[in-house]
Amino acid sequence: APLLSFKGVGKVFSNGVTALDNVDLSVHEGDFVSLLGPSGCGKSTALRLIARLSTPTSGHLEWRKAQGDDSVGFVFQEPTLLPWASVFDNVWLPLRLRGVSRLKATPAVMEMLARVHLENFADAVPRELSGGMKMRVSIARAMVTKPRVLLMDEPFAALDEITRFKLNNDLLELWQQERFTAVFVTHSVFESVFLSNRIVVMAAKPGRVYRNMTVDAPYPRD
Ligand code: ADP
Ligand code: ADP
Repeated sequence: APLLSFKGVGKVFSNGVTALDNVDLSVHEGDFVSLLGPSGCGKSTALRLIARLSTPTSGHLEWRKAQGDDSVGFVFQEPTLLPWASVFDNVWLPLRLRGVSRLKATPAVMEMLARVHLENFADAVPRELSGGMKMRVSIARAMVTKPRVLLMDEPFAALDEITRFKLNNDLLELWQQERFTAVFVTHSVFESVFLSNRIVVMAAKPGRVYRNMTVDAPYPRD
C-alpha cells in the first residue's frame, strides 16, 4: 500500500483561489517524487498538506498506518538558519525541541553533518558559510530526527548552477543511503529527472495533476 495518498484532494483558500482541484496522487515508501509545474499550480500547497500545516477543503489525505514515527522534515528555499547559533546548534535544534540534550544529540548531529560533508564546520556560524553550505545545514537539520518523509520546496533554486549540481549529487547519495521518502518541488526538469523515480507534472488554474510518470534512471541507483 502507498505510504500516502491524495484522494480527490481540493484546496480552496478563503479568498476564493482554487490551489488544488481533485488531486489523486500516491507516494510509496522510498519514493523520490518530484512535483513539477508552473508557478501557482499548487505545488507548495500540496507540500503543506503533506506536512499537515494545512488541511484540504475537499477530499482527504490517507496515510498508511504508521509503523512507529511518521514525522516529516521540511526544507525550504531559504535555509532559515538561526544566524547567531553554530552549525551544530542549528542541526541540534529539532532534537533539542524534543528534549534531547546536547551531549545525547552529539552522535546524531555529527553523523548528519558528515553525511552533508560539513563535519569540519560544526562550530561555524551561518554567515561564515556559502549558500550551498547553508542549504546542506538545512538538509542536515531536516534529517536529524530521521523523518519518514522529507519535503523540499525548491531547495536549490537560489544557488548557482555548479553548487546546485553538487547538491543534487549529494542529495541523491543521501537518499540512496537512507532510503527516506522524498517529495521534491522544483522548476527544473533536469533535477526532476536526475533525482526522482516518479515525476508528477501539475497544471495551473486550477491545480491539477496532468502527468504522473515513472522514471527509469539512466544510471545505476543501487
Ligand atoms: P506553487 O507552489 O505551485 O507556486 P502554490 O501552492 O504556492 O503554488 O499556490 C497555488 C495558488 O494558491 C496560487 O494561486 C497562490 O497564489 C494561491 N495561494 C497559496 N497559498 C494561499 C493562501 N494561503 N491564501 C490564498 N491563496 C493562496
Ligand atoms: P490554511 O487555511 O491552509 O491554514 P491560510 O488561508 O490560513 O491557509 O493561509 C496560510 C498563510 O498563507 C497565511 O499566513 C496567509 O497570509 C498566507 N497567504 C495568503 N495569501 C497567499 C498567497 N496568495 N500565496 C501564498 N501565501 C498566501
